[in-house]
Amino acid sequence: MTNLKEKDAKYVAGTYARFPVEIKNGKGSILYDTDGKRYIDMGSGIGVTAFGIADDEWVSAVTSQLTRVQHTSNLYFTDPCAELAELLCEKTGMRKVFFGNSGAEANECAIKVARKWGEENLGADHYTIVTMKNSFHGRTVTTLAATGQDHYHEHFGPMTEGFVHGDIEDLDGVEKLIVEHKACAVMFECIQGEGGVIPLSADFVRGLDALAKKHGILLIVDEVQTGNGRTGELYAYMNYGITPDVVSTAKGLGGGLPIGACLLGERVCDTLKPGDHGSTYGGNPVCCAGAVSVISRLDEVFLASVKAKSRLVFHTLEGKEGIEGVTGAGLMIGIKTTRPAKDVVAECMAKGVLCLTAKDKVRLLPALNIPEDVLLEALGVILEAAKAQIPS
Ligand SMILES: *Cc1c(COP(=O)(O)O)cnc(C)c1O
Repeated sequence: MTNLKEKDAKYVAGTYARFPVEIKNGKGSILYDTDGKRYIDMGSGIGVTAFGIADDEWVSAVTSQLTRVQHTSNLYFTDPCAELAELLCEKTGMRKVFFGNSGAEANECAIKVARKWGEENLGADHYTIVTMKNSFHGRTVTTLAATGQDHYHEHFGPMTEGFVHGDIEDLDGVEKLIVEHKACAVMFECIQGEGGVIPLSADFVRGLDALAKKHGILLIVDEVQTGNGRTGELYAYMNYGITPDVVSTAKGLGGGLPIGACLLGERVCDTLKPGDHGSTYGGNPVCCAGAVSVISRLDEVFLASVKAKSRLVFHTLEGKEGIEGVTGAGLMIGIKTTRPAKDVVAECMAKGVLCLTAKDKVRLLPALNIPEDVLLEALGVILEAAKAQIPS
C-alpha cells in the first residue's frame, strides 16, 4: 500500500470502490499512473473530458479566464456565462439557460421548473413527474426520487414525493401514469446510461413527445450523459426530431470542470423569476470558458467524425468471440460480454486500457477526439480480454 492509498482510505469518505490505479498525469486519451505505466482512457472521467486530458485549446481558454477573474457570484454580469448561454441557445433553439455545477443540479432545476409551471398552468395538484424505470437522474434526495431504481432509494427515505416510474417501451402504461397522477411532465434519458447503455426506441421517444403534447405537459430530456456530442449529435434528442421543453446536461459540457446546465424552451423560459432558484457557483466564468471551448468545437464536421468512430467501434466488436452484443450511439457504447464485465474491465486495466461498467456491460465513453489508432489499440485489448478464458 502506498502512502496515497492509505491516506485516501483514512481520510476520504468511503463512498467509492476505487480501482487500484493512482493517476498522475496525461495528455489526450493517454493517462499515466505514478509508476509511469501508460493507460488508454476509454472512460474520460465518466464522459467528462470531452476533448481528452489537458487539451491545448481547452487549457488555454480556461487559464486565460483564470488569470482575469475566477469567480464573481451571480450578483454581477460576466462574459463567459452569457457567451455560453447564447451558444447553447443558438445551437439548440432553446430560449434560456440556468447554470449549476452538476448533473443532479441541472435536473433539480428541471424539476423545479416543471413543478412551478404545472402549478401555474395546470393547477396546484399537478406536480407529479413521470420518469422511467431503470433511469438515473442523480444522487440528491429529489433526483434519487426521480431515479427509477429502487436500490438507490434504500436507506435514504422518505423520498421526495411526486415521482412515478413507467416502463420503457410501454406508451400505454406511461399515459396511464400521466392521467392517474395528474402529471406535469415526463422525464427520460434517450439512452439510459447508468442503467446499462440502453437506447430507447425512436417510436417510444417520439411517442413520449406525442403524449406530452396530447396531455399538455412538459417533455424533459436528461442529457447529462448523452449530451454535448456524446452520441454523434449535439444532444441525443436531435437523433429523434423531437422538441423538448427542458434539456438538462452536465458531464462533458465543461470538458473537465464542474458545470451543469438546464436549457429552457419557449413554454418555460420565463417560469423562474428572481429569487426562485440560484447557485453560488452557477455560471462560474472559468467553468463557462471551458464549456465555450467544448461547445464551440462541436460542429457538423466534428460530429461526423464522432459518428465515424462509432461505426468503427461497432464494426470492430460486433460478432466477435466473447462479445454478445453492442449497444449505444456515437461514443457512448455498452458491450455485453460472455465473461462478467468486471473481469473484462480488470483484465483491460492490467493491459493498460481503462474501461467503465454499466450494470452487466462494459461501458466505453472515450474522449470525442480520441485518435483512430488509439481507439483501435484499445478495442484490440478489449477483444482479447473478452475472449480470454477465466483462469481455473
Ligand atoms: C451522471 C448522471 C447524472 C448525475 O450527474 P452528477 O454530475 O453526478 O450529479 C444525472 N443524469 C444522468 C443521465 C447521468 O448520467
